[in-house]
Amino acid sequence: MKAYEQTLNFLKTLNLKGIATSLDEMINEAEIKKTSYISFLNTIFTTEISYRVKRRVERHMVGAHFPVIKRIDDFEFGLVKGLGQSEAVNLLDCRWIDNRENLLFFGPPGIGKTHLAIGFGVAAVEKGYKVCFERITNLVKLLKTAEIQKTSEYRIRRIMKSNLVIIDEIGYTPIEKREANLFFSLISEMYEKLSIVITSNKSFDAWAEMMGDSIMTTALLDRLLHHARIFNLDGESYRIKNQRKEV
Ligand code: ADP
Ligand code: MG
Repeated sequence: MKAYEQTLNFLKTLNLKGIATSLDEMINEAEIKKTSYISFLNTIFTTEISYRVKRRVERHMVGAHFPVIKRIDDFEFGLVKGLGQSEAVNLLDCRWIDNRENLLFFGPPGIGKTHLAIGFGVAAVEKGYKVCFERITNLVKLLKTAEIQKTSEYRIRRIMKSNLVIIDEIGYTPIEKREANLFFSLISEMYEKLSIVITSNKSFDAWAEMMGDSIMTTALLDRLLHHARIFNLDGESYRIKNQRKEV
């Protein structure tokens, strides 16, 4: 009994929570199966490692700030034109993130742009990538307050250290010139360092008007488009379709 308690204390001191939580179970199983010493050691370390991976994914899921959790599995591809299911499934391998490519989703409201952006973000977190989700309005607010507000500064720092940054709802609200400049600087800093996913209800032509500066918008698009896959989604709004179904 003494050795058992001491072991638990050691595990605590060494911060081996994964082993500590399932120690009883592992000992019992080893006794029943008469496992070899090496295979018992192996089980112990495997347990700790999977526990840590699981905790890290949970932490990263919270840190991503997804407004809701959506999955690519739950997306009905038959309803939209512009992205096929097999193409989407291929993207789940996240190689585009390793290659620092961007995904740009365009289309009318309710077509599933945010769902897809979150779905790929969630898949990336589950694969171990660091992801940040922000609506453009909030991102601009963070940029404007980063110098005076610690929480904004931390968030921007996390964004810059991510593998993937999702910027949602570009185009719903016009942004001021100063805001557009801050946004442009951010994208320039991210360029070729990390992957960006954006969603927008406005086509590129309308971006200049929204940003209030055509030269800067061209430079911005230049960076976003350099290594990018563009999806022009089309079809009926899922929201309206569902509402009609209920009526
Ligand atoms: P958008 O960002 O293009 O305005 P959303 O992604 O917010 O649209 O979609 C609106 C709602 O409809 C969300 O709840 C989303 O999960 C759902 N939705 C949209 N398109 C689909 C689809 N093809 N399959 C399943 N759910 C969808
Ligand atoms: Mg949306």
